[in-house]
Amino acid sequence: MDKKQVVTRFAPSPTGFMHIGNLRTALYSYLIARHFDGKFILRIEDTDRERQVAGAEQVIFDTLKTAGLNYDEGPDIGGPNAPYVQSQRLEIYQKYAKQLLDEGKAYYCFCTKEDLEKAHAEQEFIGYNRHCRNLSKAEVDEKLKQGLPYVIRQKVKLEGTTTYYDNVFGEITVNNDTLQDIVLIKSDGMPTYNFAHVIDDHLMGVTHVVRGNEYITSTPQYVQLHEALGWELPQYYHLPLIMGKGEDGSVSKLSKRHGAVSFADLTKQGYLPQAIINYVALLGWHPGESEQEFFTLDELIKAFDPSDIRKSSAIFDYDKLKWMNAKYIENLSIEEFKENALPYLNDVITVELNDLDKLCEILKPRIQIFSEIQDKVEFFQSLPDFDINLLFNDKKKTNAENSKIILTQAIAKLDNFDVNDWDNDSLFAVLEHVATENDLKPMSVMWVVRIALSGNTVTVGGATEIMQILGKEETLNRLIKALERLN
Ligand code: GLU
Repeated sequence: MDKKQVVTRFAPSPTGFMHIGNLRTALYSYLIARHFDGKFILRIEDTDRERQVAGAEQVIFDTLKTAGLNYDEGPDIGGPNAPYVQSQRLEIYQKYAKQLLDEGKAYYCFCTKEDLEKAHAEQEFIGYNRHCRNLSKAEVDEKLKQGLPYVIRQKVKLEGTTTYYDNVFGEITVNNDTLQDIVLIKSDGMPTYNFAHVIDDHLMGVTHVVRGNEYITSTPQYVQLHEALGWELPQYYHLPLIMGKGEDGSVSKLSKRHGAVSFADLTKQGYLPQAIINYVALLGWHPGESEQEFFTLDELIKAFDPSDIRKSSAIFDYDKLKWMNAKYIENLSIEEFKENALPYLNDVITVELNDLDKLCEILKPRIQIFSEIQDKVEFFQSLPDFDINLLFNDKKKTNAENSKIILTQAIAKLDNFDVNDWDNDSLFAVLEHVATENDLKPMSVMWVVRIALSGNTVTVGGATEIMQILGKEETLNRLIKALERLN
């Protein structure tokens, strides 16, 4: 017998940013689909018109693209189940709502907002008091004729229990008398998420539903909807929350106070998409007993057995992500590094540097995220105002006297130096020369030159690397300036 093709979906509401939790949901859905040679669908759930944000869909498309989570069907690429945007599928939901009404599995509710508020104030239970559940057909027809606004509610079964199996959390059973007659179609004709996603998942052939565990307790409602419509249940995977650790050590739902929480904010800080994906994959999943931590997307696809998804909440550890990102940076070629670094460099550096590749080469092992570049390279753009006394350092055995000698001689030698030989090794030889000729230690020469060129005691790169990056003209300018200040 043919096994049913695995179909998963990512069904975000377009809120304008991709929270890490959503990204993990998308990733796990994607990985399940790819692991089982199935299909991955993107669907936009935009029926909450009050929460619309302009351009929000594009953020979703872009994020999935950058993250490498390509989908087989979706709003921007079409597919056999189009349209993939819920607000464009209203007739479909109306059709099924009508079916449920006709079969007595849903009902019209004419309660106004004031009615509901009044009832809530008086009743001891939460939720709707089912006032309209048993209106007669004649009463309903009359109110419809009057043109009264209405919603359509699910007529849940109230006796017995509802059970479903969640693949992460196990069997979930609720007493039906705790369920609500939830709204399926709102008064503006829009379906609720509760209704629309059930219809869409079924029509789109979704076999595995992966989503946050905030839906775990409402899923029995959806189970009853499936029963009412005579449809098979998909496999459910509700994912535990992602937590963040505060400075005081307290753990709570990951939010902005813990740090960047959206994919875009993380990439803006200079985390590589591959590193983010790798790290996020491990927030709640790990392959069996293996110790492996680094996975390419292809390796994740191979390794991703959804039965390894864990039910304990993971803590988002920014230090760990940084560490992981640094490893990814380490493995970039200089060309790839440069491509990623350029936007950050260009923010700070507008002058033309003599050797950008060299700068990239020395930055690469020294940063964990790309935004760290900016502080490190500022002095290449312009020499900061610095205290000239920095040149004099007991440990480096430098003082006012020998600093003058070092600078004078270095300037003289470098002035005659052929720009074509302006590389690290040759420059190193020149400075060593200055040292031996004056009976000084090379470290003293390197110190004075490096401070004169950078105005900083801590720099990315040594004296000669900085010289190579600045080029002859700027190097001489800065050395001359330091000497003038000494004189
Ligand atoms: N639109 C829902 C959300 O963004 C999707 C939940 C689901 O995947 O079923 O939370």
